[in-house]
Amino acid sequence: MKCKTCGQKATVNMRHHKLALCSQHYLEWVPEQTARFIKKYWMFGPDERVLVAVSGGKDSLSLWDILHRLGYQADGLYLGLGIDEGIGYSDESHRLTEKFASERGLKLHVVDIEKEYGSSIPMLAQKSRRGQGRPCSVCGVAKRHEMNRIARDLGYDVLATGHNLDDEVAVLFANTISWSADLLRRQEPVLRESDGLARKVKPLCRFGEKEMTAYALLRGIEYIYEECPFSVGSTSIYYKELLNQLEHERPGAKLAYYVKFLEAKKDGLFTPATAQDFVLTECPQCGQPTSGDGLCSFCKIIKKAG
Ligand code: SF4
Ligand code: ZN
Ligand code: ZN
Repeated sequence: MKCKTCGQKATVNMRHHKLALCSQHYLEWVPEQTARFIKKYWMFGPDERVLVAVSGGKDSLSLWDILHRLGYQADGLYLGLGIDEGIGYSDESHRLTEKFASERGLKLHVVDIEKEYGSSIPMLAQKSRRGQGRPCSVCGVAKRHEMNRIARDLGYDVLATGHNLDDEVAVLFANTISWSADLLRRQEPVLRESDGLARKVKPLCRFGEKEMTAYALLRGIEYIYEECPFSVGSTSIYYKELLNQLEHERPGAKLAYYVKFLEAKKDGLFTPATAQDFVLTECPQCGQPTSGDGLCSFCKIIKKAG
């Protein structure tokens, strides 16, 4: 297999794009495509300040690397979740993130949930008795809350996360088989800012898991290979496996499923959400927007755990 650009031996073969590239041209192609998606979906402009949520994994570190290479003003945010399970997941992911930032002279903000709120994520889940042994729902609420708080407090224009195509199609599949219209409406590469909520973007949403792994390895990015120990056996991993089987039989099925969903929405598959659909009030504790009329979900967890 030869590189389509230079004819040298190809390193990465993307069957779904009918495109093979050598290492050098692959490392050029990924940022070019990312820049294209940033423009196509109106994610952010060259003068805006971007806060990248980094977990120490291949996707978020690669995203930070790509934005930096493209010349954006992108700083990192690492959230210390206090997950000691596995190989000491949080400590190791924190170490690799710090290393990545210091080697490149990038600015990294670190927020440790336990220091900030007195309990780690697994402790919060246990004390608030949410999640039946798996802290993921508490973790999701806490991450959303803290990312928004930091982006807002530090005056960033946009919050970027490293969700890739495999993440997006797994969520799309879950939302489709349950026909969760509200969630499907909000599943977009960009969620526009609104009162008290930062704009959120997913610049890697059209790159598959394997493409991101190839990018991280070829760029020599040192990332945490282990997944969070609590992700083992999750529904999302099960859906990813199912969708990989489909992709194996029909290369390009995942990308088509996602891109055609976005196009169908543009053509009116769902009526666009209006302001009335999401009447938000201010949480009396933290001031962030919430859909209920009392504390936001995060403050409820903290109160219950306190
Ligand atoms: Fe949090 Fe780990 Fe669950 Fe992901 S898998 S939501 S990091 S606890
Ligand atoms: Zn080449
Ligand atoms: Zn709150």
